[in-house]
Amino acid sequence: MSVTKNEAPPNLERIESLIRTIADFPSPGILFRDLTPVLADPAGFEAVLSAFEKICAADRPEAIVAIEARGFLFGAPLAARLRVPLIPVRKAGKLPFQVRKVSYALEYGTAELEMHTDALAHGTRALVVDDVLATGGTAVAAAELVRSLGGTVSAFAFVVELPGLGGAARLREAGESGLVHSLVQY
Ligand code: AMP
Repeated sequence: MSVTKNEAPPNLERIESLIRTIADFPSPGILFRDLTPVLADPAGFEAVLSAFEKICAADRPEAIVAIEARGFLFGAPLAARLRVPLIPVRKAGKLPFQVRKVSYALEYGTAELEMHTDALAHGTRALVVDDVLATGGTAVAAAELVRSLGGTVSAFAFVVELPGLGGAARLREAGESGLVHSLVQY
C-alpha cells in the first residue's frame, strides 16, 4: 500500500491484533477469521476505513460494491466517507426490484448473488469490498454482476486475505484486471 508523505500509516498491527480466529466454525477444519472485535474497537475500525480510503485515493472508484453481509459493515461507511454510491450485492431473494443474478459453485452445491439491474450507471468504475477473500468465488461472482450491468471493477479491497486458498489467482483467471488489496494475510 502506498502512503502519502506526512500522513500516519494505517495501523495494520492494531487490526491484526484484534482479529479473532475461531477453529472449526462454521464447520470442522475451518479457521474462521472473526472481525467483530475490529468493529468493536473504534481505533481498529478507523484503521480499516482509513486504509481503504488510501486504496481509493489511488484507485478513484465511482461506486462501492459491498458483498452481503460482512462486506456491508466496511463498504457502507467507506462509501459514505468517499461520497460515492453504495451498491449492495445480496443473496438471492432479498432485493425487491428487478435483479441480475449469478450462480457460483461452493464446496457443496451452489450459491446465488443478486444486484438491482439499475444499480450501476453504464461505465461506472466500482471497488468491490468484502471482509475476507478466501477461494475468490464470491468476489468473482460480484465482479461478474458488475460487468454484466455495464460497469467495471477498478479494484478489490478485503480486510483479510487467505492467500493459500488462491482467491487473487482465481480473480485473475476470471479475467479481472483490478488490483486485489488486503490489509492482513494469513
Ligand atoms: P470465498 O468465496 O471462498 O472467497 O469466500 C468468501 C466469503 O466467505 C466472504 O464473504 C467471507 O465472509 C466468507 N469466508 C470464507 N472463508 C472465511 C474465513 N476463514 N473466515 C471468515 N469468513 C470467511
